[in-house]
Amino acid sequence: MAATEPEIPGFAAVELIDLHQVYGEGDAAVHALRGITVAIEKGEYVAIMGPSGSGKSTLMNVLGCLDIASHGTYLLAGNDVKEFDEDQLAKVRNRELGFIFQSFNLIPRMTALGNVELPLVYAGVKKPERHERAIAALEQVGLGYRAEHRPQQLSGGQQQRVAIARALVTTPTLILADEPTGNLDSESTEEILQIFDGLAKTGRTIVIITHEEEVAQRSHRVLTIADGLIVRDQAQADRRLAGAGVHS
Ligand code: ADP
Ligand code: MG
Repeated sequence: MAATEPEIPGFAAVELIDLHQVYGEGDAAVHALRGITVAIEKGEYVAIMGPSGSGKSTLMNVLGCLDIASHGTYLLAGNDVKEFDEDQLAKVRNRELGFIFQSFNLIPRMTALGNVELPLVYAGVKKPERHERAIAALEQVGLGYRAEHRPQQLSGGQQQRVAIARALVTTPTLILADEPTGNLDSESTEEILQIFDGLAKTGRTIVIITHEEEVAQRSHRVLTIADGLIVRDQAQADRRLAGAGVHS
């Protein structure tokens, strides 16, 4: 395409407009999200920080289409998720989203390979292709040689790498990670962060929730949440300047 041609306007990977999430009713109601408005572009690597109870996991559940917000709009690649039926939501979760959790959530009785193949089983991919893609995903996280091991035969860091392979195997458009290094030592944390660095370099869209500054530092942009609201939205370059004592 010639440089002078107008670009066809695309959609943000994620657009949230005045999103609210309320748990419970009446006096017992908890307003976990109180009006979140933000856009995340394709290829961005975003960290979400904030104190415990501030609404981070609630936001992640909404982003992951595990919950529908009680009020407001969530556009995923331009599609309003409120208009999806259960079947379409399940397809979106399976094919468009890759989940990584703090506790890995691997199936103990299945091998690493079996765990990574699972989303492809749900997607109806046939055995030979499933096997090939799962092996490729395990190799991508440096664990091709552990394909036949079960989770309890692997270290925490290795288990999380298997979980990342499982999240990547469907080539999702959006990768969502909730405290992915929360249970890991610093060496394993670094391994996981290097994988995310690589994914970001190849243009994957990543949203990672974390308590840890060393994790947030690797992202391109940090959203800070407090009491269900985004209270700060900072590009990494600006954070570095602020950290160096330069006022913006
Ligand atoms: P974070 O992940 O930042 O620690 P959460 O999103 O888990 O915060 O929780 C935000 C608020 O919503 C908290 O007050 C929490 O107690 C409440 N909350 C979360 N999930 C539920 C639920 N399923 N039912 C009722 N309250 C909830
Ligand atoms: Mg949480």
